[in-house]
Amino acid sequence: MKTEYDIVIVGGGMVGAAIACALGGSRYQVAVIEGLYPDAFETGQPHDLRVSALSVASETLLKNIGAWDGIISRRSCPYRRMKVWEASEATATLFDSDQIGENHLGHIVENRITQLALLETLKQHSNVDLICPAKTRRVDYSAGSSIVELEDGREIIGRLLIGADGGESRVRQAAGIGITKWDYNQQALVASVVTSYPQQDITWQQFTPTGPLAFLPLSGYHASLVWYNTPDQVKRLMALSDKAFLDAVHQTFPKSIGQIDQLLERGFFPLRRQHAQAYVAEGVALAGDAAHMIHPLAGQGVNIGFMDVAMLAEVLLEAEAQGEAFYSLDTLKKYEQARRKQNLLMMQTMDAFYHVFSNNNLPLKLLRNIGLGVADKLPFAKPHVTRFAMGIEGPVPNLAKRT
Ligand SMILES: Cc1cc2nc3c(=O)[nH]c(=O)nc-3n(C[C@H](O)[C@H](O)[C@H](O)COP(=O)(O)OP(=O)(O)OC[C@H]3O[C@@H](n4cnc5c(N)ncnc54)[C@H](O)[C@@H]3O)c2cc1C
Repeated sequence: MKTEYDIVIVGGGMVGAAIACALGGSRYQVAVIEGLYPDAFETGQPHDLRVSALSVASETLLKNIGAWDGIISRRSCPYRRMKVWEASEATATLFDSDQIGENHLGHIVENRITQLALLETLKQHSNVDLICPAKTRRVDYSAGSSIVELEDGREIIGRLLIGADGGESRVRQAAGIGITKWDYNQQALVASVVTSYPQQDITWQQFTPTGPLAFLPLSGYHASLVWYNTPDQVKRLMALSDKAFLDAVHQTFPKSIGQIDQLLERGFFPLRRQHAQAYVAEGVALAGDAAHMIHPLAGQGVNIGFMDVAMLAEVLLEAEAQGEAFYSLDTLKKYEQARRKQNLLMMQTMDAFYHVFSNNNLPLKLLRNIGLGVADKLPFAKPHVTRFAMGIEGPVPNLAKRT
């Protein structure tokens, strides 16, 4: 095992592993340090609690870096329609892939499956070493020559350090990059359930003053429910017996929920908004949750993380082609300029949804219902919103663009 690399990626989650795949086959010598290898996938095993709605832009990136087949061959669920409403389902806004001549709007995939497919792909590249399981004990940032000390005492040196190590990023802290953050007064209770009806092609969300209620289809007779609520209410719901919890689901969720036959698992996630004050410094770059965490109500977190991957890889590969210093601030700034403003815009949009919909003020309530009604009727606006949600409208990095 080498100890010196051009690029050391701390974190081999979905984002870190994707960066390594995108750099596979280049002249860069790349190391990925990941604390935990995910459990192998077996057909018929229960669905995981952690799932993500992957946009078409993410799908394109994953295809271009060779990981998509590893996802599809395991387990995923395409969805073609997305429905959103507040007061009454009868006035819901429906986004339908048929209306814009597309085959689907996205796929719901278990995070572990996406990560497994990516790790499997990066292992095929001779210029990429996966160091796993290996946790970092210390990250010593130094512009152009950082040292990562592992818990077993090994030291890995990289000219460029990439922090893809999630919200608590050690790389970010070692580089002295600050964050702005606040907690939403809301948590996400996620439940994995068995439905009495077969696989659906629709994902829906009802906004309520205490938070959205969402349905995400999984393969077969399975689905994932997300019940956003205050921390107190989530605590109460988590303490209920399975039967009492399912009764509460049937009483609270809209009638679209149909019959839920079985609760397989539930868990909850505190929600916070967090943004790194910079994405780069000389010899260091942040991507994915290490750089930004957003409210998951529109399922955009890892999707914008994948767009970071596409842009960062593009900048690094261009530097390689031009013979530029890939770890220099000038080079890395191109990545930050392309991504930070975009991600901030997405965060602000999610915050607007969160604040506007968790408010019982009557005029606001009327306005947002009119807003949703108008969105449904506008023949020109809706296709744009649909394409934006699919990640194919707006500035899309080249590696995530369909040809
Ligand atoms: C309830 C909920 C629902 C969501 N739904 C969606 C959705 O539908 N669509 C969507 O796009 N996003 C969604 N998200 C967001 C999405 O889950 C995250 O954006 C995504 O997981 C971030 O991936 P990441 O690779 O950047 O970070 P992480 O998933 O946090 O991965 C970090 C990796 O780094 C490793 N690591 C950390 N520290 C170290 C260390 N010191 N040494 C070695 N390894 C280390 C960890 O083991 C981990 O594998 C949701 C989030 C929540 C909470």
